[in-house]
Amino acid sequence: MLERVKLEERRLDDYQDIVGEEVVSHIRELAAPLRDARILHINATSFGGGVAEVLSSLVPLMRDVGLDAEWQVIEAGDEFYDVTKACHNGLQGMPLAFTDEMKDIWRMYNRMNAERMEGHYDLIVIHDPQPAGLLHYNEGVVGDNWVWRCHIDTSRPNLEYWEFFERFVVQYALNIFTMPQFVGPGIPQSHVLIIPPSIDPLSAKNTPMDPDIARRIVADMGVDVSRPFVTQISRFDPWKDQFGLIDAYRMIKPRRRDLQLVLVGSMATDDPEGWQYLDKTIEHAGGDPDIHILKNRSGEEVGALQAISDIIVQKSIREGFGLTVSEALWKGRPVVGGDAGGIHLQVIDGETGYLVDSIQECAERIFYLLQHPEQVERMGEAGREHVRQNFLTTRHLADYLRLAVRMLNPAGEPTGQPAARRGV
Ligand code: UDP
Repeated sequence: MLERVKLEERRLDDYQDIVGEEVVSHIRELAAPLRDARILHINATSFGGGVAEVLSSLVPLMRDVGLDAEWQVIEAGDEFYDVTKACHNGLQGMPLAFTDEMKDIWRMYNRMNAERMEGHYDLIVIHDPQPAGLLHYNEGVVGDNWVWRCHIDTSRPNLEYWEFFERFVVQYALNIFTMPQFVGPGIPQSHVLIIPPSIDPLSAKNTPMDPDIARRIVADMGVDVSRPFVTQISRFDPWKDQFGLIDAYRMIKPRRRDLQLVLVGSMATDDPEGWQYLDKTIEHAGGDPDIHILKNRSGEEVGALQAISDIIVQKSIREGFGLTVSEALWKGRPVVGGDAGGIHLQVIDGETGYLVDSIQECAERIFYLLQHPEQVERMGEAGREHVRQNFLTTRHLADYLRLAVRMLNPAGEPTGQPAARRGV
C-alpha cells in the first residue's frame, strides 16, 4: 500500500460567495453522475511545491462533491530523488547526462511502488515525471483508466530525457499539460488535454488578512515593515533564478537605499538540490542585511508576505505554472515575472504586472512600480479579477470532473482504454 495523505476538509458551498452560485451549481451537476467514483491521485510528495499545494485542496473538494477521491504518495530513497531532480532539470531543458544507472534507479523505484499499489480505482491520475512509470509496471492491475498530469515546463526539453519519458507517458489514455507549448514530441494530439492549475482562495495563505496582523507576522520574520520590500516565494532552484533577482535588486539599490528583498523557499522532500541552492543563494546575497532569506514558512506567513509586499517577483527562467503568481495577484499585488511558461497565463504584460526577460528589465520594472503606487493599485485589481475568472480551484475542479465524465462515461459504455504498452 502506498502512503495515503491525510486530507483537510473542504466544502464547495463555502466557495459560493467568491465564485457565485452558478459556478457551484454547475459543479454539482457535473459531479452528480460521478457519485462514489473512485479517483486516485499519486505524486511524489505531500509537502512543498505546487502539486502538493493543488492536491491538498482539490482532493478534499472532490470528496465533498461525492467522489471517493484519495491522494497517495510514492516512497523512495535519496538516490531516486537525486535522479528525479535531474529528470526535472533535463525535462526543463538542462544539458545533463542521463546515464543507464540513473534510468535503472528510476525504473526500480517505479516498479517497486507500482507493485505496492492496492485496491481498485475508476480513474488514476499520476502527477509529474517521478511516478510516471507506475502504469507501465502496475499493468493496469488497480484500474483501467490512467492519465498522466505533467506540471513542469517541457517546452524545450533535453531530448535524451524527453524520449525516455515519452515511452512511458504515451501509455496513458491522456496526458494533461498546463499549456499547449509544453506538449513534447511524440505525444498524439488525441492524448493531449490542457488544464492549468489553480489556487485555493480559502486556504490559510489566500484568505484575506487584516493588514495590521500581516505586518506583525512579517515583522516577526525579521523584515522591516516600515520600509519597502519585494518578495519572491519559491523553492530554491536554478530555474526560479533567485540569483538573477538578487542582481536586479542590487541594480535598484543605489536608487532606492531603503529597499529590502525577501526570498522565501520551501524545502520539498523530493528536491534534494534545494539545500545546495539555498547555500549558494545565501552566498550570493553576500551578507547584505537587507536581503532576507527564509525557508519553510507556513501558509499564513506566506500569505502575509504576499499581502503586504510592495511587489511580488517570480523571476523564473522556466516555469510550469507558478502558483505563487496567482497567489500574489489574488491579493491585489502586481507580479514582475520571468517571461517563461505558465507565468504567461497569469501575468498579462502591462495589465496584471510585467513580463521580463533580463535582469536589467526586471530591475527597471520593479523600480518603476516602486515609484508608481497608483499603477500597483490598478494592476493589483486587474490581477485579482484575472485570477477569479481563471485560476481558482473551482474551475480546476470542474475541469477534472469533465475529464472523469469523459473517461468513465458514467451514463454509457466505458471509453477510456489504456493505450497499447510499448517496450521500455
Ligand atoms: N510555498 C510555501 N512556503 C514556502 C515557499 C513556497 O507555502 O516557504 C508554496 C507557495 O506559496 C506555492 C508553492 O509552495 O503555493 C509553490 O508552487 P509553485 O507552483 O509556485 O512552484 P513549484 O514549487 O511547484 O515549482
